[in-house]
Amino acid sequence: MTLGLVGYLFMLLAFSAAWAESPVQGSQPAVNKPQEKLSERAAGLRAYARLQALIEYYFMENGFYPASLEALEAGLNMRVFSAETKKTVSLLPKDAPMVTLGNDPVTGKPFVYTVSSDGRSYTLSLPEPKKYGNDVPELCQVDWGWLAVAAEGKRVRRITANCAHNLEELAALCEFYAKDHKKAFPPNFEALRPQYMPEKVRFPRCPACNLEYVYEFRRGGYTIACPDPHKHGLAGLKYDSEKGLMYAEFPNAQAQPKAKEQPNAQAQPKAKEQPDAQTQPKAKEQPDAQTQPKAKEQPDAQTQPRTKE
Ligand SMILES: [Zn+2]
Repeated sequence: MTLGLVGYLFMLLAFSAAWAESPVQGSQPAVNKPQEKLSERAAGLRAYARLQALIEYYFMENGFYPASLEALEAGLNMRVFSAETKKTVSLLPKDAPMVTLGNDPVTGKPFVYTVSSDGRSYTLSLPEPKKYGNDVPELCQVDWGWLAVAAEGKRVRRITANCAHNLEELAALCEFYAKDHKKAFPPNFEALRPQYMPEKVRFPRCPACNLEYVYEFRRGGYTIACPDPHKHGLAGLKYDSEKGLMYAEFPNAQAQPKAKEQPNAQAQPKAKEQPDAQTQPKAKEQPDAQTQPKAKEQPDAQTQPRTKE
């Protein structure tokens, strides 16, 4: 199972794209330019500037600032925790040079990074500014202008993709179950334990709202719905055993007032998505997702959707 890995896989894709375009990696000196002999202080300032560049790069790829310098380094090197081996592994190709953050060369101490709880702002400072003569400022988030909106869009799309991925993972489990049970689907998620989902492994949750998915069993089929699709800017997001992934947009979505878009579902759009939502998209538009108030299949909390293998 690779529940929750998808965030990193997206990062992998993003980084591979960047990789292909940039001939210079990490902290290597520029092409054809011999390494200059820098004073410790000059080297420190350069490392300081580089660290900020890496932090901002992370932001542009993810839409939020890293939780710590360790998280930054792990993210840049595509390290993920494997539940199977209990080890952190890098998804980078073997011969790829690692991105190392490094310490302040003057003091040998790490740079000091703090981030706000919402990941939207940070400060970066030298471990001992006095050693630099007190005239080196603390650094903070760059004003990216409209590019910040692009980064936010990436973040939102990634979260939605993660949610859809979770739906597909859960659906795959239901299909495995049906194969072994004369085509009968599980009555609820708990029925998947322990054969299709180990007791110790948590069922995935929506990465946007951290709530359990809503499973609805019906004769010959099922739906698994995102518990709060509004968090994705959608009226509905679910997986239907017959129709596949279904995205329901709000009727007044600027693009087109058609209301329904299901890229993965070839068949006819289920007419249930927004029965009466013409005027107020805030109201809960999915009767079928709401009627069954969350069969509580996963008592154990999942706070970190990303860390599992
Ligand atoms: Zn969701």
